[in-house]
Amino acid sequence: MFDDLKGKRVLITGSTQGIGLAAVEAFARAGAKVAMNGRRTPADLEATLARLNGLGGEVVFLPADVSNSAECGTLVEAFVERFGGIDVLINNAGGLVGRKPLPEIDDDFFDAVTDLNARSALMVTKHALPHLKAAAAQNGTTSSVILVGSVAGYTGGGPGAGLYGAAKAWLHNIQKNWVAFHTKDGIRFNTVSPGTFDTAFHADKDEDTKTRIGAGFPMGRFGRPEECAPTFLFFASHACSGYITGQVLDVNGGQFMP
Ligand code: NAD
Repeated sequence: MFDDLKGKRVLITGSTQGIGLAAVEAFARAGAKVAMNGRRTPADLEATLARLNGLGGEVVFLPADVSNSAECGTLVEAFVERFGGIDVLINNAGGLVGRKPLPEIDDDFFDAVTDLNARSALMVTKHALPHLKAAAAQNGTTSSVILVGSVAGYTGGGPGAGLYGAAKAWLHNIQKNWVAFHTKDGIRFNTVSPGTFDTAFHADKDEDTKTRIGAGFPMGRFGRPEECAPTFLFFASHACSGYITGQVLDVNGGQFMP
């Protein structure tokens, strides 16, 4: 399975930890050429890269703040300079930024949340588009763009996370337009929509709180990042999902069933 991912060039934004890092590992195991991205260089970068490069693929680190549109462009340029093109783009960078209820939201907070969760994905995708199109034409299959949505995109998000939920709903929606106008370019667009996963995203909760919240889900617990990774492989693989586009795949342990 996923044999066609060997040698594929995969850019994953926001992937130094959590769900993104688990995806980097999964693609490396599949033999892909992967760029791990984050705003800052991780302290243990050398050791992490050594470990990741022992998995069977090739992994590099490309720093960029994708909430900054100019850096979205330079990230794509750096990736193409390194690997010669792009086959798969995963727009994973995202986060709450903070929790602010409606009365406390100001322009700066609005910009910070939407820049990180919505504009970043749009800008990286925009810059990657010609490369994804060229790769599809070259190999006669499809290129793949994967967005990372959220259960909050359906439910509206928890306390103080309304803007975050709305930005994720925006992602669930905008891919429909991209499918309508860029399928002719050989590019597929799909969204992986996680439920509640045990990552730094939930660093504001202690273990007891996480256990209690998880007990309320049909699966009885939070998800683990490695349980989300195979869905990225599936949408990236033309052999597995070459006729699938414009879909949202919910990876949420039954937490929400749209
Ligand atoms: P995380 O906080 O563990 O990881 C976020 C990653 O994004 C890190 O590697 C960080 O360096 C990177 N990042 C943050 N801001 C960035 C920026 N401006 N530019 C580049 N990189 C940046 O979070 P996670 O739980 O692994 O989340 C990954 C994705 O999944 C996010 O889009 C998040 O919204 C989504 N998600 C997570 C959950 C969850 O419960 N963990 C639920 C639904 C959706």
